[in-house]
Amino acid sequence: MTDLLVTNGRVVTQNADRTVLEDGAVAIEDTEIIAVGRATELEREYDADRVVDAEGGAVIPGLINPHTHVSDILLRGSFAEDRGLLDWLYNVKRPGTFAMEPDEHALAATLYCIEAIQSGVTTFVENDTEVLWDDWSTIEAKLAVYDDAGIRNIYGAGMVDRGADATFQELVTDIQAREPAVDHPPLDAFVEETDIVIAEVDALIDTYDGTADGRQSIWPAPVVVETTTNRGFREAYALAEKHDVMTTVHVAEAEAQEQRDISSIEYLRNVGYLGERALLGHCVQIDASDVRLLAETDTAVAHNYISNMRLATGFAPVVEMLDTGVTVGLGTDNAILSDTVNPLSDARAMACGHKGSHRDPGVVDAQTAFDMITRDAAAAIGRADDLGSLEVEKEADLAIVDLDHPHLTPSPDPVFSLVHAVQGFEIDTVVCAGSVVMKDREIRTFDEPVDEILSRASHTAEDIVARIGYE
Ligand code: FE
Repeated sequence: MTDLLVTNGRVVTQNADRTVLEDGAVAIEDTEIIAVGRATELEREYDADRVVDAEGGAVIPGLINPHTHVSDILLRGSFAEDRGLLDWLYNVKRPGTFAMEPDEHALAATLYCIEAIQSGVTTFVENDTEVLWDDWSTIEAKLAVYDDAGIRNIYGAGMVDRGADATFQELVTDIQAREPAVDHPPLDAFVEETDIVIAEVDALIDTYDGTADGRQSIWPAPVVVETTTNRGFREAYALAEKHDVMTTVHVAEAEAQEQRDISSIEYLRNVGYLGERALLGHCVQIDASDVRLLAETDTAVAHNYISNMRLATGFAPVVEMLDTGVTVGLGTDNAILSDTVNPLSDARAMACGHKGSHRDPGVVDAQTAFDMITRDAAAAIGRADDLGSLEVEKEADLAIVDLDHPHLTPSPDPVFSLVHAVQGFEIDTVVCAGSVVMKDREIRTFDEPVDEILSRASHTAEDIVARIGYE
């Protein structure tokens, strides 16, 4: 007996040959794909408990977001746009997330998951950069929401084990002085002894990695290069090896900030942090020799195109990375920098942006962009074996995209339409681990009606913004 048959779709498998099956179907048993093929054949062969008719829509792998932040979603739209990275970080994001109670983080997580699911996401890597390790209540409140949401989350447990030096403290003090009414958290609020933070992350992985029927994972996540000690990096990588997970860090988002005599990539190589278990977020301000080191060490990159454009940090050398064989996934980064949690809209902007910046329409074609939110994103998070494509023995994570819209007509090549024309609202159905999480755009996994959650989120956001002293 088959549990679920998704049929009558244009199945964009994202297998090694990038096969698209017209009139295709996917058969699912428990959490796994057991067959991908022609609809007529699979309908004959498999007697399914439940049949979902894709009605000619595109059946795609569940999208994978390899770099994102969750809690700041409630600060959306509340702050002036004309901020550089440090101004945004120290005057907006840190005060906002520091002021939030655990139940508000949970509400942010709920809102985030609703938007992510409606955008076709079945896996996301949260970089929690503001973690207070004295108790786990905020982390646990969020993990409980992700469990309920029914999709996969990788919680990047933020590690800060190096305080700011005097020069940087002075710089931040000046930046914060621009917003005297804002209640700023202390600069060292999130700094923890190396031994303590490593023990906490180790225990968190022991407790929560593999929970939610295997949909939840925990990674050690040093926040940025300049707030991590050499030993912190070595221990984070060792923890990833010990627990068979990965580790992630923000790197070279704005190199001037890191103020090192050697490049951040070279520094990370020296401390033993490059390798197949490392996923580096951003890598904007890096050069050809850095790209070569990433390729040689099999280190993956999470490109965050829209946030790089919004903060004007620059164009990451993604074309050079791809040409050199570096695995690159596309992330949406902060929900108040990309401003949506929608990998397809980011993929479109990213593909067009790199074409424009290179003055070459041949770079980052639609297939490459789609790979960066499916199979390449899976490889970037170390899950190439079970996620990222619709193939037998892979996890049954998929989305159905309704192509029956004027802006998607005609759609001779569904991958082109997905990247360059789909807006997001056309995503109709989402399946994760064999369970239907959304059908007809109705999310099935949260008890509270979506409109009530949205209303609660708006009111709570107003309250948080007022609380931190922002007019
Ligand atoms: Fe980030």
